[in-house]
Amino acid sequence: MQVKGIKTFAKTLGILLLAWLLFLTWRYYFKASFGTDYPSGGRLTPSQRAMDIRAYHFDIHVKPEEKKLFITLAIDLRLPQTPPDTMLFDFIDGYSIESLVFNGREVKNYFYTNNRLGWLPRTEKAPRRDTRVTIRYSGIPPEAPRPPWQGGFVWDKDSEGYHWVTLACQGEGGKIWFPTKDTQTDKPDSLTMSITVAAPYYVPATGRLRAVDTLGDSLRYHWTSRYPVSSYGINFGVGRYIPLSDTLNSRGPQTVPAFFYSLKEDSAENVFLLQHLKQQVHVFESLFGPYPWPDDKLAAMQTPYLGMEHQTLNAYGNRHRYEEIDGHTVDVLMLHELAHEWWGNFISTADWADFWLHEGFATYSEALYVERIAGTTAYFDYMRRKMRAIRNRKPVIAGKNLSTTEAYNGDVYNKGAAFLHSLRFVLGDSLFKNMLYHWATDSTTRGGKTVVTADFLHHVNRYASAPQDSLFHFFLKSTRRIEVHVDSVAANCYRISLPGIHFPLPLQVEGSSGARKEIIPPGGLLMESIGYPMIDP
Ligand SMILES: [Zn+2]
Repeated sequence: MQVKGIKTFAKTLGILLLAWLLFLTWRYYFKASFGTDYPSGGRLTPSQRAMDIRAYHFDIHVKPEEKKLFITLAIDLRLPQTPPDTMLFDFIDGYSIESLVFNGREVKNYFYTNNRLGWLPRTEKAPRRDTRVTIRYSGIPPEAPRPPWQGGFVWDKDSEGYHWVTLACQGEGGKIWFPTKDTQTDKPDSLTMSITVAAPYYVPATGRLRAVDTLGDSLRYHWTSRYPVSSYGINFGVGRYIPLSDTLNSRGPQTVPAFFYSLKEDSAENVFLLQHLKQQVHVFESLFGPYPWPDDKLAAMQTPYLGMEHQTLNAYGNRHRYEEIDGHTVDVLMLHELAHEWWGNFISTADWADFWLHEGFATYSEALYVERIAGTTAYFDYMRRKMRAIRNRKPVIAGKNLSTTEAYNGDVYNKGAAFLHSLRFVLGDSLFKNMLYHWATDSTTRGGKTVVTADFLHHVNRYASAPQDSLFHFFLKSTRRIEVHVDSVAANCYRISLPGIHFPLPLQVEGSSGARKEIIPPGGLLMESIGYPMIDP
């Protein structure tokens, strides 16, 4: 057959797949990178891997005038049958350690250097398997140079001159203020925090408030959490907070106390935000299952910095910069942090290399929310904005055992979200939504799970008609772009091909007989049409 008039053009997929050619950014929030002196994550030492942190019990005194913390921390541990040679915790240098008691005995010969605190367990008497270390220390924690991206404590004042103390340390991990294992693979099973401040300050914290004691002119707030929590998720604030309160009628078996911890000066506006937060939860519960922390609470806390997902105490510093989406007022920052209660806090990455499992999912959740309240067109508009922000300079997953600093870039948000958008097209709507719901709800432990991308791929493959390994690899581990070629091969006959893509990929194709979803095999697809078919019309 003689082929006449071969004409080729390439079209970059802008709507259903990725508009990677446009390197625009639209929100400064996602542009910043972690540039911390104390990156979090990476590899654990063998002795750290051997011990299991069961619980933290904090007794904290906060002295805002000195920007100083006085802490007694008891850590409940489970040790392996053969105890590790060295007990080793990540804890940045600079604190004064007053005492360290391990397994019921005071340890004098501990070492504390290079951001590590350790000691050799006594060899003549093996420690109990379930044991405890209690460390009493004090010091001035690092101040956050650029929260939340370069974290630490923020010692601020409200408009009336009262202290306003907050904390953000995702990039650094909890080791900037307490001894811990700098990993998400070992969360404690529970947490207690007793926090003492001068009256009349209020202290919101992780978990649920059990009691407040008055001790002379001080107040001691007793918080407990019955759930596992990442070290950077352990959080508190000190300020003239007003706990605006309500109840969330969760889809789960119980109602959940809901709070917005507001500075007095902003409480009128924040009454709206608490209602908005509850409404956002209702949408996410319908998509991802019940709110994960019913025994604790649902809460946001006003902060001087933009935001951060702190389990049961999300930081909110967006200053009411709402977006109007088809007549709906949306606080996208609060929405994004709320999505992390499922994606990041409940389902956590074991390795920061898989940061997109937090940020890509949270960003895509924004689009799902927009779709629910404003419809399909608004969803596509929203995703288009996210895709325009893709930079594609390095793969979303750029290695293994990476630190926060090595792993973090804007594409873990936007390209991660675009990947889920594409995966939805590949699986089809109802399979995708079913898959996503079960990714959140199939956890075997009530405190969630710690995962890597391979776990998510395994989960997706249980729903997909064919393994999606190649799709995952293409989107997440390469910076390659999709090019679509449409060649005229005969009268009214065209070949649609995807050069360099060696796995079948569905595309939306519109020929003279109408639009449909076509699987493009590696060799290309022949299609009859009067006139050039449109790809992704
Ligand atoms: Zn986020």
